Amino acid sequence: MYDRFNRNINYLRISVTDRCNLRCTYCMPEEGIKLLRHEDILSFDEIRDFTDLAVANGVTKVRITGGEPLVRKGIVTLVRMISGIKGIMDLSMTTNGVLLKHFAKDLRDAGLQRVNISLDTVDPDKFAVITRSGNLNDVFEGIDAAKAAGLLPIKINCVICESKEEIEAKKVMRYCKDNDLEIRYIRQMDLVKGHFSMVDGGTGGDCSVCNRLRLTSNGKLKPCLFSNTEFDIRKLGYGEAIKLAIELKPACGSVNETGAFYNIGG
Ligand code: SAM
Repeated sequence: MYDRFNRNINYLRISVTDRCNLRCTYCMPEEGIKLLRHEDILSFDEIRDFTDLAVANGVTKVRITGGEPLVRKGIVTLVRMISGIKGIMDLSMTTNGVLLKHFAKDLRDAGLQRVNISLDTVDPDKFAVITRSGNLNDVFEGIDAAKAAGLLPIKINCVICESKEEIEAKKVMRYCKDNDLEIRYIRQMDLVKGHFSMVDGGTGGDCSVCNRLRLTSNGKLKPCLFSNTEFDIRKLGYGEAIKLAIELKPACGSVNETGAFYNIGG
């Protein structure tokens, strides 16, 4: 699927829940968010059928995200349903890693190929402050479990304020080197203010090569993380939503006042 700027749109990110078991200061308010109603959340069958059609239209790469994908009940079953779609060459998940030790092997067996794990600090006290509740050791155990299960390569998403020379970022880099993990630095963004930048170590944020579509857990297909544009797959039908999202994918991001990282998934 080529858009009008000749970008080959072959990457679908699916947010499978708006819920999260952490409250990272840069992502979610401390009191949490107004949760979606159960009936608004896409069912597994809807997600599978939509993904199937997206793959028939040229998607080859799928990432499962959230909220926190591992808090969606039955996530292993959903991964198995998605991995059964012929034509997906790369199936990955972005997770905070907290629950990963319980799921890594089953996810691998269900067809997940690799994981990105969010980690902004290797200091337990700082981790508890950033996440407003998290236990860093759970993430370390999750990383070990992902390695043992063969969910490779493991990429670490490290959010920074300004520069990868910040002390915490350098410590995360050392940890990654010592543990054979790839690192990507994501500058803290503000979608509402239109503050976004390129991901160091990835292609995110570079509009000229953006190949992504994003599906929210309540069925809004977004052609751009940094724009309000979205298409309701239940109202429009899957095929029409995909067609419109490709046709109207903006050349470049601007602002997004209708979504946030916790419901789009980054
Ligand atoms: N819960 C999962 C996790 O923590 O990886 C997946 C969802 S989370 C929203 C996806 C990614 O978005 C994480 O790597 C997170 O650090 C990043 N993120 C969240 N808010 C952000 C912000 N304001 N600026 C930059 N990245 C952000």
